[in-house]
Amino acid sequence: MPVLFLILAVAAVLMTAFLVWACASIDSGVWVKAVCRDLGPDGKVTLTFDDGPDPVSTPEILDILAENKISAYFFVIGEKAEKHPELVRRMLLQGHHVGNHTYTHSVLFPLSGKPCIEDEIRACDSVIDSASGASIDSVTDSATRISVPRLFRPPFGVTNPDIAKIVKHTRHKVIGWNVRSFDTCLVKDCLSESKADEAIAKCVDRIMSQVGPGSVILLHDRLSHSPSLLRALVSALRAADML
Ligand SMILES: [Zn+2]
Repeated sequence: MPVLFLILAVAAVLMTAFLVWACASIDSGVWVKAVCRDLGPDGKVTLTFDDGPDPVSTPEILDILAENKISAYFFVIGEKAEKHPELVRRMLLQGHHVGNHTYTHSVLFPLSGKPCIEDEIRACDSVIDSASGASIDSVTDSATRISVPRLFRPPFGVTNPDIAKIVKHTRHKVIGWNVRSFDTCLVKDCLSESKADEAIAKCVDRIMSQVGPGSVILLHDRLSHSPSLLRALVSALRAADML
């Protein structure tokens, strides 16, 4: 009896660990087959920015990308994009891809049930649609020639069977990443101005130690240090001929 109990306990722990990994890892592919690499041409690295648009840092990010002739992916939060449609439009006009990152980016999104998950996704689609001036169902807006592909990135990279069913139903292509920058950790590290450069250099080193051909890097365009990090990262990736 104790042996059977032990086997069942170990099986339960292993199953729980598997389910946590399957839900929390965007590249696990268990529930959703997310594209986590090879978004760019010829094995080049792709930069992706989540959680914007931000009225202060996003324009600067867009300036840096334009200066360096880089096309990136932006996964916007609907309620922010609704306040700054001009930034969404600028992303598209600069040739970037704009994807759906839900309307509110709620931490409860994965657990909210299929109707709420669908509402969150469709509401964000609608904001992008309205900002771009094109129908979300059409590939190209005839007046502006702006491409509006249906892309989705789940908040926190968390997926589960409910999200899988809804993205299939709403026909979104799910985009993940295979290099996490942990740039959000810089918020604390950059509080001291004198330590900001050092913290950014460390973050770039960490990213560079993980990147390879076709890597997709997760960044954020809502942080005050996002532009400085981007400048340093572009410089390192260009030096390594990866961008
Ligand atoms: Zn996010």
